[in-house]
Amino acid sequence: MKSYAVIGLGRFGGSVVKGLAERGQEVLAIDRNEDIVNDYMDIATQAIIGDAQDERMLESVGIGNFDYVVVAIGENEQASTLTTLLTKELGAKMVVAKAATSIQAKVLAKVGADVIIQPEADAGRRLAERLVNKNIFEYFEISHDMMFAEMKVNNPKLEGRKISDINFHDKHEINVSMVRHTDGTTEIGAGDTILHVGDFIYVVGKKKAVSQLSNII
Ligand code: ADP
Repeated sequence: MKSYAVIGLGRFGGSVVKGLAERGQEVLAIDRNEDIVNDYMDIATQAIIGDAQDERMLESVGIGNFDYVVVAIGENEQASTLTTLLTKELGAKMVVAKAATSIQAKVLAKVGADVIIQPEADAGRRLAERLVNKNIFEYFEISHDMMFAEMKVNNPKLEGRKISDINFHDKHEINVSMVRHTDGTTEIGAGDTILHVGDFIYVVGKKKAVSQLSNII
């Protein structure tokens, strides 16, 4: 089993702790605010009060031995930067740091953060993507011009049609990897897979093509 430490138990860090606990993972939760730490006593494997800018505190909990350390200190940029730096210096292999701004993201990269996330900016972009491409429910970017997307079949003209009839590959330069039917069954996308309104399809392809498809599917 992997071990996790989450530093900073605001809305973001707190949700990470809850998500890990719900998945049966061992998680150490740290915050300098006693009241907040008390809220996590029964949720985290261990919850401790501590200032993450204090190197001795980080060392005493063995921060360098965790498989993943999440630095989720929000607006306090100095604390977030120093904590990331100390955590890496103490040997943590994988440090995920939350940045409030793109400038902070650059600083966190400089001090050694392995993964940097900007939850508000990411959520905003995801919402924009969903608003523009009405049938896309989830997606992730594979590269600057390729994406993977989950989209819902809404067009009655596609009811009962085979994937090969719709000619996804040639016409839309898209590969349908998987189909999830309304009864919850799934199948690998093949030429003879039949689509129904309400099905979800999981496609890989050029962003432009995925976007176009999402508006006609
Ligand atoms: P969010 O935007 O995710 O809600 P917040 O900025 O509200 O983030 O919360 C950050 C948390 O980090 C707070 O609970 C705060 O007490 C904690 N925190 C801030 N500085 C430190 C520090 N030096 N050491 C430990 N915890 C800290």
